[in-house]
Amino acid sequence: MSNDHRIRNSVIAGLIVAAAVAIAKLFSGVFPVIIAAIGSALAGIFRHLTSSVDVPRGIVYIASLAGGVWAIRRMRRAHKAAAAVAKPAQPDWPEYTQDRFLGVVWRWQYDRDGLPVYLAAFCPFCDMQLRSSEYPGFRFPADLCCDRCDKRWSGKKSWEATQIYVTLEVQRNLRSLAWRHRLTP
Ligand SMILES: [Zn+2]
Repeated sequence: MSNDHRIRNSVIAGLIVAAAVAIAKLFSGVFPVIIAAIGSALAGIFRHLTSSVDVPRGIVYIASLAGGVWAIRRMRRAHKAAAAVAKPAQPDWPEYTQDRFLGVVWRWQYDRDGLPVYLAAFCPFCDMQLRSSEYPGFRFPADLCCDRCDKRWSGKKSWEATQIYVTLEVQRNLRSLAWRHRLTP
């Protein structure tokens, strides 16, 4: 710090003390002593904060505080990232869109109310979507047929009743939380 700055700081410190003394003179009794003490303390703090060789200590303290806050934020972010890696996010129920019922694979979607819709059956061997024997021919009960493997799963209900049955099975698994163990049938 240059001599000019030192002189300036001393002048400001002196002014603070002088102001405190002037205020103290306005009062009598105990107040002058207290006010003078506060003035001296403020002047002392000001001198301390500005009495560095290169940079005022006040700036050093502010920079240190800002650096500390930044470091803590970085550490928190790193901790969160590490926790996320260690513990992957738990799957949520809307991810349960596939399961095995009646010996074949079923897939579906959910409507706005969370009800399973667009149920479709797939071959467990080749993943071809299965065709109901009900159409064409209106055959009851409906069989599920894979036109690729030429396999057939005989049903006991109509195609519509089979879909309702699978819908109820899905809803049962959602209620009982069994879906968590059936995400990869
Ligand atoms: Zn097949």
